[in-house]
Amino acid sequence: MADKPDLLTVARLAPFLMQPLQAAFTVHDRLHEEDAAAFKRIAPRIRAICGSGESKVSAELIAKLPALEIVSIMGVGYDGVDVAAAKARGVLVTHTPDVLNDDVADLALALMLSIARRIPQADQHVRQGRWPAGPMPLARKMSGARLGLVGMGRIGQAIAQRALAFGMSIAYTARSAKPALPYAFHATPRELAAVSDFLVVITPGGAATRKLIDTGVLRALGSQGYLINVARGSVVDEAALIEALQNSGIAGAALDVFENEPLVPEALRALDNVVLAPHIGSATTQTRHAMAARAFANLEAHFAGHPLPSAVPECR
Ligand code: NAP
Repeated sequence: MADKPDLLTVARLAPFLMQPLQAAFTVHDRLHEEDAAAFKRIAPRIRAICGSGESKVSAELIAKLPALEIVSIMGVGYDGVDVAAAKARGVLVTHTPDVLNDDVADLALALMLSIARRIPQADQHVRQGRWPAGPMPLARKMSGARLGLVGMGRIGQAIAQRALAFGMSIAYTARSAKPALPYAFHATPRELAAVSDFLVVITPGGAATRKLIDTGVLRALGSQGYLINVARGSVVDEAALIEALQNSGIAGAALDVFENEPLVPEALRALDNVVLAPHIGSATTQTRHAMAARAFANLEAHFAGHPLPSAVPECR
């Protein structure tokens, strides 16, 4: 159909999102990366962008698309989008909050248990035939321990709910205290780390949280403390973390996100006191389908002239 709006994808999107996109739009699949000459020809017609939580939508890209009206991100984090540049041009930005809370919270608990109980190492102990030679060293009990949440938003609260079932005491830091919640507030990550056995990072990425978890926070967490990052790699000073892990500054770390994904420093991969995951917080069939449906619903609503189901806060 000639009158379908033109849409540019800026990530490798799942077939269950590509299919409805292709039905409703003329889709140009990552043409900006793959064919500069072809991209230049179609750029003036692009009215929508669709990408993932890891996509980069820079001011430069926005400037090349004079007809752009909306950027739909399939993900809750949109730190890769230059929202200020979008807003300056009147371009709307949408994301997919809430539908992934369960999965990311589930993964946070799974990573906490994995690092505390050394589940990957236990699996290796059995697989590699080391059990007959003797038991594994004793692990760290998680139930009843002190959980510190850096971020107490949608996902932070879902993590806290799960941790309650483990009898954990819960404290948090955020930009502001939440008096309605029954958890102790600490003004800074460092103060929180000092009273935590497990420090779980679940803030947005971007400039405001860059290296929020630094040497000082890791020192406060201390040699018996564990760091879990399910937020963004940018929130943790990775060099400081590696240094702390190598020198028993902290007990261990479980990480779903990294500074320079998908590349993970060899120094981290070589350590025994870490559990590493390839950014799988929301990566279940059920949740990815729900995220895709929401990302599409935002685009559909915009082009039908209806209110957007989930614009980012800056565009509401
Ligand atoms: P949210 O509801 O917006 O909550 C964010 C929390 O972070 C809020 O409590 C906020 O404080 C706090 N925060 C923001 N800036 C801060 C700062 N500078 N210092 C301290 N705390 C700060 O977001 P959400 O839906 O829970 O998602 C959180 C993030 O998780 C996403 O943005 C994304 O980066 C990440 N994520 C990762 C995965 C994964 O695959 N690993 C999947 C989904 C999401 P206030 O409450 O005071 O505003």
